[in-house]
Amino acid sequence: MRHEEDAFQKTERSLLKYKYLWSKSLMDWYAVHGRDLPWRRTRNPYAIWLSEVLLQQTRVDQGLSYYLRFLDHFPTIQELAKADIQDVLRLWQGLGYYRRAHHLHSAAKLVVEMGGGLPQSPAEWLQLPGVGPYTAAAIASIALDYPVPVVDGNVIRVLSRAFGAEAPYDTAEGLRWIRQTAQELLYTARPGDYNQALMDMGATVCTPQKPACDTCFWQKKCVAFNQDRVGELPKRSKSTKVVPLTLDYLVLFHRGRVLLFPRRDQGIWAGLYEFLPQPWAGAWDESAWDQHWGSEHPSETLSHRLVTLSHALSHRSLTLNLNCIRLNRNLHLDGGVWVTLQDLERYPLPQPFLQFLKQIDFNHGRTQQSHAHRQPRQGPRSQNP
Ligand code: SF4
Repeated sequence: MRHEEDAFQKTERSLLKYKYLWSKSLMDWYAVHGRDLPWRRTRNPYAIWLSEVLLQQTRVDQGLSYYLRFLDHFPTIQELAKADIQDVLRLWQGLGYYRRAHHLHSAAKLVVEMGGGLPQSPAEWLQLPGVGPYTAAAIASIALDYPVPVVDGNVIRVLSRAFGAEAPYDTAEGLRWIRQTAQELLYTARPGDYNQALMDMGATVCTPQKPACDTCFWQKKCVAFNQDRVGELPKRSKSTKVVPLTLDYLVLFHRGRVLLFPRRDQGIWAGLYEFLPQPWAGAWDESAWDQHWGSEHPSETLSHRLVTLSHALSHRSLTLNLNCIRLNRNLHLDGGVWVTLQDLERYPLPQPFLQFLKQIDFNHGRTQQSHAHRQPRQGPRSQNP
């Protein structure tokens, strides 16, 4: 405990010494180099909330088009609250971390049920589903001028390097240092601009790889730069474990349509559509198929082909085994919906499924370029749902 106090007191002395210089330099830099983004031209808390949720774990250039489309479809919280969740998920498609969309929609409904007034303080924002300390602080400081600092990955990196954090930021001591440092340095006259300036600096100058130290306004004072510790900071005590996960599906085609089902579980891709989860474990098995549907669709009458996709999420490495089957007759299954290629956009799908279906000839259940390969295909790295 004594050690913790000493560590912060030591930093505090240098923070107080540099507080004015830091905030002035940062705000001057922001005035010239800050990014001109549409959510920075408004004080509408709903629009700012939307931008903050959309941009979590998402690059600004990617989030921008989603933000504009969302505001176009749901210009007010009332419009969002009365929307069907499937419409919300459809707009969200491709952005990943779909739980954010569910939370945003639930929060909008809650606010409207309570009378439609948006929260007026960070503590009130924290009551809404999906709003954590970072989002509450960002909205309250930007839209309401609350003097609260934001702490996200960018802020952790910038402060750790600029002022030399000693403890790993994923420990209680490290987090305490970050929070206190962020609070101490906050420019309370313009907290929203200050927070955005800090996040911009982390996104464009003090980046995770190859930070632009040679053009950085803080280079002369930067602890990490002057102690040659830029690559070492911020420190982390443990690395994220990537867990492998295999999902087996039956991808059924009939007369130019594919059979999709809404995914009900709360885990990855909750609320999106998927193929029929294979009701037996392991590889394609004709006798298992016959046990389920052999009376109407004997396995020897089917054309079967396996396509294996790999898809990387931030903490999951997915192997997707897609057993593509062309049926000669219809198959009625509860909850299933037969969809044509033209209608696909009405159904929110996980990105690897959508990309896969776009290459498929729905009449034959085969890729359009080649009817022969059975090779694993490397999917794009995306974010968690
Ligand atoms: S000098 Fe380099 S490490 Fe230090 S704050 Fe600037 S960009 Fe980051």
